[in-house]
Amino acid sequence: MTYNDRARISIYNAIRKSVGLSRSEVADRTGLARSTISLQVAELLRSGFLQEAGKNLSQRKLKLSIHPEKGYFIGALLGTRRFSVQIVNLHYQVVAEMQCHLQNIHDPHSCNTFLLETLQELIESNPQVQGRIFGLGLGLPFPVNFEAGKPDSPPYIPLWHDFPMVDFYSEGLEIPVLIDNDVNVMAWAEVVREPKLDNTLFIKLGTGIGCGIVLHQGIYRGAQGSAGDIGHIAVSEQNKVCHCGHSGCLEATAGREALLAEAEKAVGEGESVFLQGLLAKGRQRKLALRDLQAAIQANDSFTIRLFQKEGERIGSVLSSLVNVLNPDSIILGGSVSEAGGLYLLRAIHQHILYRSPHLATMKLNIQMTKDFLWGGSFGAAALIGEHIFEQEFHRQLGSRNG
Ligand SMILES: [Zn+2]
Repeated sequence: MTYNDRARISIYNAIRKSVGLSRSEVADRTGLARSTISLQVAELLRSGFLQEAGKNLSQRKLKLSIHPEKGYFIGALLGTRRFSVQIVNLHYQVVAEMQCHLQNIHDPHSCNTFLLETLQELIESNPQVQGRIFGLGLGLPFPVNFEAGKPDSPPYIPLWHDFPMVDFYSEGLEIPVLIDNDVNVMAWAEVVREPKLDNTLFIKLGTGIGCGIVLHQGIYRGAQGSAGDIGHIAVSEQNKVCHCGHSGCLEATAGREALLAEAEKAVGEGESVFLQGLLAKGRQRKLALRDLQAAIQANDSFTIRLFQKEGERIGSVLSSLVNVLNPDSIILGGSVSEAGGLYLLRAIHQHILYRSPHLATMKLNIQMTKDFLWGGSFGAAALIGEHIFEQEFHRQLGSRNG
């Protein structure tokens, strides 16, 4: 990369992280010479990446900003039952979105062929983005080998192991593709929407339990990409066998299935008149999280205690993470979080305050995510945006300006 390439990227990044900068403000933020800025801004305007506003002002005062429709990113999140997709412009504003339910994701070939066709249909139905998509980010609900671009030993869908996801989608859509663990893209969505969150943990509480870690505004994946797999931390001496083969894992003790099994046993023993009534009314004889959510909303004392106990289990692991990482924020999402609501949040918070040192908790913010439904697809779009922008930018401009 030449000096001019680096200067252009530096100018572009300074402008995209602001609401608009004049040339002299760009000089202040980048430290580049004014002659370099003048030359490279002219090239960025000519290529359409930048636009300027304030026609009656002198050139020195004109505000430069990113042209949002110059390009787009697609972000998608695969769940066990749902596929969510969003297309965003260069300002990360959503221009198109869709969700569909999945019947069967066990066979990777048929499932990914269906998902690819779904993405192609969304692109075709939005002509303004055709030929202008810079890349696809894809969040997946299982361990991901980030460097290899492949799933690694997915516990519930073993046939996906080593499926060449990145190759499959980049050949199908002819754009760069990046895959990552779902909690990482969910964590990234929070940071992009709230740039003050420098060090953040995103905790997904559902069938599985995972943690996306953002440190100093970058996703921390560890050496092989498996950082944040907190669901299999041993928390109990009980012989609750986990699908990973071990026993006593957090997921086997506090995941959705364990929580529902505990509730069903207690309801069978007459602990909750409210939940007994719900079961008696319905045709199904199994409890669902929506039943627990309804019980919480009805102030059912058994269900409140159930989520307080759940909060202690989750909180004991999170307090260890707080001790090690000292995050400024913990954000909760997932079906179990939604069901437990404020009772779960408060129990987790109290347990962390009780277990972790004052210095680590005095400014710690714990909250629910505001957008679990779309956060993952948005985060995947923003992640591919951050990762490939420089390459795409370089490819379109770099070769002409050595
Ligand atoms: Zn386990």
